[in-house]
Amino acid sequence: MKSYRSELLGLFGCPVDENPTVVIIEAAFKALGLDYRYNTTLVQPEDLEVAVKALKAFNMKGTHITLPHKIEVLKYLDVVADDAKLMGAVNTIYLKDGKTYGENTDGKGFIISLEQGSVEMKGKKVVVLGAGGVARSITVELAGQGVEEITVVNIERTMGENLVTLLNENTDTNANFIFWDETYNVPSDTDILVNATSVGLYPDTNKANINYETLTEKMIVCDVIPNPPQTAFLDEAKKVGCKTFDGFSMLINQGAISFKFWTGQEAPIDVMRTALLNEFGLE
Ligand code: NDP
Repeated sequence: MKSYRSELLGLFGCPVDENPTVVIIEAAFKALGLDYRYNTTLVQPEDLEVAVKALKAFNMKGTHITLPHKIEVLKYLDVVADDAKLMGAVNTIYLKDGKTYGENTDGKGFIISLEQGSVEMKGKKVVVLGAGGVARSITVELAGQGVEEITVVNIERTMGENLVTLLNENTDTNANFIFWDETYNVPSDTDILVNATSVGLYPDTNKANINYETLTEKMIVCDVIPNPPQTAFLDEAKKVGCKTFDGFSMLINQGAISFKFWTGQEAPIDVMRTALLNEFGLE
């Protein structure tokens, strides 16, 4: 018998209108011939609890969660993955056997990008600029990969110190905090440098306040900013000859992990990448 019902997925955020994730997820459904719909949904903070309950009421497969709900949403879920609990943030919900499960795929998407580029993480020294949600997710995952040292550099002291305490108390990495009140000189023994701030996101083309003359060719330099994929921060690193990783790949990879939670199928990453490049009018 023909079914006229599509499986439902979504993205809950506020504001959410400019988030392009629908483009990559819908392209993946189409490529795999799945009758699924992904709806970008404006959910006000005061409506988050009822929106999460609606996932069950509408028999949805799950949803992405974005700002400002990533932290708040934890208290409305039946089960939260251990690493997401540690990060204190969830960006993906899936439903199974009538229960809601919370996961965080941001840092996992970042790690996959480095793995795709054959970057060894074990025993490395990492500097992370920023201490917000994405920095938390990335640093917890990097610690899980066995990096030796993580230096968190942040313009606000409490957030940075809290993240360092979280890493030192719950992981085997050695974390330390640098208060970012002036141009930051990247230590010469840094293996991996990550911009996990929001600096550089379209339409703001600024770059993080570091001394770019302290970058050296052997450093791996990463940016979480997905749009534009080639940020001014990465431009500077490329000039020095560093291997670079952009936020565009991270975005595709985190979406692919969420996709698997929802559909049980491997996501067609190349299709998703092409769809997003087309959307942004890029090659
Ligand atoms: P948050 O607001 O939680 O954190 C932003 C961080 O940037 C904070 O540490 C903040 O400092 C810092 N910051 C803001 N302005 C400046 C500045 N001028 N100089 C230095 N530091 C600054 O955001 P998220 O962590 O959730 O997101 C960060 C970025 O990651 C966003 O631009 C988003 O687009 C991108 N992102 C990318 C994804 C991907 O898959 N590629 C996935 C999700 C997000 P303070 O502590 O003072 O607030």
